[in-house]
Amino acid sequence: MRDRLIVGNWKMNGGLAANTRLLRRLAAGWHAASGRVLAVCVPAPYLAQAQTELQGSAVAWGAQDVSEHRQGAYTGDVSAAMVAEFGARFAIVGHSERRQLHGETDALVAAKARAALAAGLTPIACVGETLVERERGDTESVVAREIDALTDALGDDAARIVVAYEPIWAIGTGRTATPEQAQAVHGSIRARLQRAGAGEIPILYGGSVKAANAAALFAMPDIDGGLVGGASLDGDEFLTIGHA
Ligand code: PEP
Repeated sequence: MRDRLIVGNWKMNGGLAANTRLLRRLAAGWHAASGRVLAVCVPAPYLAQAQTELQGSAVAWGAQDVSEHRQGAYTGDVSAAMVAEFGARFAIVGHSERRQLHGETDALVAAKARAALAAGLTPIACVGETLVERERGDTESVVAREIDALTDALGDDAARIVVAYEPIWAIGTGRTATPEQAQAVHGSIRARLQRAGAGEIPILYGGSVKAANAAALFAMPDIDGGLVGGASLDGDEFLTIGHA
């Protein structure tokens, strides 16, 4: 059986005082459980704070993006090695907000996943379709293209990543894919990954996951956990999702 992985994506939210309260709530409320991992991906300036508050706890932490470059003249970028220096375990790459607002391509996302792996981080690579693409019947082909870009670029290392299926129409909208809708896409992702030798990696669902719907989603055979945005900013709600 695959491990359950629940990852909070704080996006561009937080502040030192509020973070301390949230991180302490998580550190106190989450206990090491075999087969279950809880993690938060924080804005880069708060990695040091996450490390201070979470080290020694059962909660892992990570970043929301990394540069595809190792180092150099890339003003404003943060390298995977820098993130790793703060004890981070994960880095989200290719979140739809970065693909849409920063023009990140499939090739760039794959390069970022490779950079994360090279620094010892586990990339959480996001894929998913827009509402227009879903209504056109293109969900499977869009997601297949995004998955293939990762597996083609990473080869055998594709077996070391995490994939998050996040239908863009469900992110931050309160509109969740039904467990059956999500499972249908997760099943096709799993089959595609299997052909690339990466069939056993965790596939997370993201898109308006909350305490009220987490258990039904996570009960699906190919949903191994969640990437949680808004609901991860509330410690009690996020812990409830972690235990779902
Ligand atoms: C996300 O940011 O990856 C996300 C899924 O957001 P939300 O849970 O708020 O929809």
